[in-house]
Amino acid sequence: MRAELPSRARCVIIGGGVGGTSIAYHLAELGWSDVLLLERSELTSGSTFHSAGLVGQLRGSVSLTRMMMDSVELYRALAGGEHDPGWIECGGIRLACTPERWEETRRQAGWAKTFGLPLELISAEEARERFPLMVADGVIGASWLPTDGYLDPSMLTYALADGARRGGCRILTHTRVTGIDVRDGAVRGVRTDRGEVECEVLVDAGGMYAAEIGRMAGVRVPLVPMAHEYLVTQPFRERGGGHLPTLRDPDHLIYFREEGGGLVMGGYERRSAPWALAGGDGLDAIPPDFNGRLLEEDWDRFEEIAVNARVRVPAMEDVRVTRLINGPEAFTPDGEFCLGESDVRGLFVATGFCAHGIAGAGGVGKAMAEWIVGGEPSLDLWRMDIRRFGAHYRSPRHTLARVREVYETYYDIKYPNHERAAGRPLRTPPAYDWHRAHGAAFGEKSGWERVNWYAANEAEGDEALRPRGWAGRHWSPAIGAEHRACREAAALFDETSFAKIEVSGAGAAELLERLCDNRVARDVGRITYTQMLNRRGGVECDFTVARLAADRFSIVTGTAFGRHDLAWIARHAGPDVRVEDVTSRWACAGLWGPRAREVLAAASTDDLSLGYMTLRDIAVGDVPVRALRVTYVGELGWELYCPMEYGAALWRTLWEAGRPYGLRAGGYRAIDSLRLEKGYRVWGADVTPDETPYEAGLGFCVKPDKDFVGRDALDGAAPARRLCCLVLADPRAVALGNEPVRAGGRVAGRVTSGGYGYTVERSIAYALLPAEHVVPGTPVAVEVFGEWIEGAVAAEPLFDPQGTRVRG
Ligand SMILES: Cc1cc2nc3c(=O)[nH]c(=O)nc-3n(C[C@H](O)[C@H](O)[C@H](O)COP(=O)(O)OP(=O)(O)OC[C@H]3O[C@@H](n4cnc5c(N)ncnc54)[C@H](O)[C@@H]3O)c2cc1C
Repeated sequence: MRAELPSRARCVIIGGGVGGTSIAYHLAELGWSDVLLLERSELTSGSTFHSAGLVGQLRGSVSLTRMMMDSVELYRALAGGEHDPGWIECGGIRLACTPERWEETRRQAGWAKTFGLPLELISAEEARERFPLMVADGVIGASWLPTDGYLDPSMLTYALADGARRGGCRILTHTRVTGIDVRDGAVRGVRTDRGEVECEVLVDAGGMYAAEIGRMAGVRVPLVPMAHEYLVTQPFRERGGGHLPTLRDPDHLIYFREEGGGLVMGGYERRSAPWALAGGDGLDAIPPDFNGRLLEEDWDRFEEIAVNARVRVPAMEDVRVTRLINGPEAFTPDGEFCLGESDVRGLFVATGFCAHGIAGAGGVGKAMAEWIVGGEPSLDLWRMDIRRFGAHYRSPRHTLARVREVYETYYDIKYPNHERAAGRPLRTPPAYDWHRAHGAAFGEKSGWERVNWYAANEAEGDEALRPRGWAGRHWSPAIGAEHRACREAAALFDETSFAKIEVSGAGAAELLERLCDNRVARDVGRITYTQMLNRRGGVECDFTVARLAADRFSIVTGTAFGRHDLAWIARHAGPDVRVEDVTSRWACAGLWGPRAREVLAAASTDDLSLGYMTLRDIAVGDVPVRALRVTYVGELGWELYCPMEYGAALWRTLWEAGRPYGLRAGGYRAIDSLRLEKGYRVWGADVTPDETPYEAGLGFCVKPDKDFVGRDALDGAAPARRLCCLVLADPRAVALGNEPVRAGGRVAGRVTSGGYGYTVERSIAYALLPAEHVVPGTPVAVEVFGEWIEGAVAAEPLFDPQGTRVRG
């Protein structure tokens, strides 16, 4: 007998794959029993049933790795139950067959230390001893993680569903959601082929079908179903007592795990195969009856993988293949999960698992349940947050271009500062043609083309300053030349891509005072640097707020953070406040340096005596400009905003005016070096929702005498850990982020961001360290590609600690 469809549930989850059931399981753990999971077919009939089931933990970010570690902990705990998922903790090997891959492996081994993962570096021969089916030809070395493993994805799903049911969750299969009711921007319920259900919270855990489900509520979930293949061999060896570890050989694009006496072998094909798209525009159109089904075997596409597998494991030459599994799976444009609350209040998304959904499901379920119950994630999930996708990902075609690139380069080494190429250029600033004509090397952020440096400045730079190793890739001597121009004369930066938010209305001042840790509702024309905190006291937003009028404020934040920050503010706003993204309305030129005032005076007849952290409307040449006396580089100057259509004229005017004063155009890489010397933080790296302003060294912004969100979580006591500035003894050894930091004889923290300071002539790194190690002069060492580089904690900022240049 089919269970009856309830008319109401506090929370409805759509999707009975490993993602949906894990969220239900963890909601039950947190005491939410009024949860209904709806599955249009059988449990595990989407991507989950045909997964290869490998669970690897080491990833590129702390939060993601932590999630994978949470998964392993859960999978261990589920063993022995009624639905034992068959967790085999056989360990995992990852081979390195090129010098660059070996460097990557050593770098990862460094991260692993800071994540608490017991990863070891082993020789080619040791790898072969652990996985005797492989030949060690061409292998330089490998990493070994004893806690990796594999399991049965379907059994895992049943185990999670069972746990959820025990906690009160109802699970209805053969119940298809056909519509989502949204009223006043919030989710109200779902329509199904069996009736309607009201709910407060809805979770779209629809795997590759999640985009289609999102469309029912007008929510764009940017993902593409991609075909992914692996083969299963017949048994061909005696198993004996032990288990073979999993084996990844990224240089050959392949992975293996044992399957009884045989092997499972898959890989990332160089030729990707998006599946079930309507026409050529990339919009997914999965057949309504696609459940419990696979795609046709595609041996042509798999050929390179199969050949490579025989090179590494010669036994593959002779074994019989039982089947080639070809199944579709949801991929996102940057290869990271897509999680969190959408623009529709109460509608959460948990999808886009990019072929590591089994490895991630335990951690994802935990994080999502905490997010739903607590109203905020319990750890920094920004890199996986659905709000990282700007409006340009509304385009299925653009999404598809990026997804293909990500899939086809999945196993390639990801060098820091590497720029993706697909779907560019898209958003261009008004002075784009000028930049191109002057040899700009562009990077991309949130769809914007942004100048990293200009080739035209290379001749003025010093090639001898090129950092060693990876930091010396995607580098140019122009960066140093642009940096020095800014410190010695003046530099002009195109900052049009900055995200800009306007908050207005009768309740605007009160709202911002309630959200900001600093006092921002000050005199009209004043600018304040502030943070907004979450309830844990962590820094949720970090930006400047300018008061334009009694009831109008302008916020400028990082290019990639606009949607995130806007959503944070909007979600706390009442009907008397309007929160608007005005990014596309304003172009921006940053003009800084000791001669910046002379440059601006040459182009403007206005009084330029406005003080630090104030704003004024002026004219620059023929262009109406809002001049903000702020800086992110530590020099006298302005951010000069004008309506977008004047942007090219503003740039030209400033450029012409500045030439007699040694003005140089500069890019974002010079800005990064300048800001490091001044100790200005980058949100998402140096400061995240996991650190309080005190830990981040931003306590000077906090006004504890006023009431604001997160204040109660701030402990007046000195923080147990602090972000601090390190300088390394070897200026050519440059940290790129996540490197372990040794202090007091042990690994005590990790680098949050690093780079070279061309004025102080030091390699600089920021790191969060326990309080006992933050005193200037404390000796530290940073592991850069396996080599411990000595250094010390330094008093910050390294450049102009009195701020005299800024106040000019
Ligand atoms: C060939 C292959 C190999 C893989 N190997 C690995 C691996 O080794 N390790 C690893 O970690 N990951 C692997 N993956 C990835 C992993 O399988 C997926 O990430 C994971 O299964 C996705 O789970 P999910 O719950 O998000 O989606 P799904 O399992 O697809 O579940 C979504 C569910 O939503 C249901 N649904 C959709 N629309 C509706 C609706 N309107 N109403 C009700 N229900 C609806 C669907 O029927 C489906 O059951 C592999 C994937 C593939 C394709």
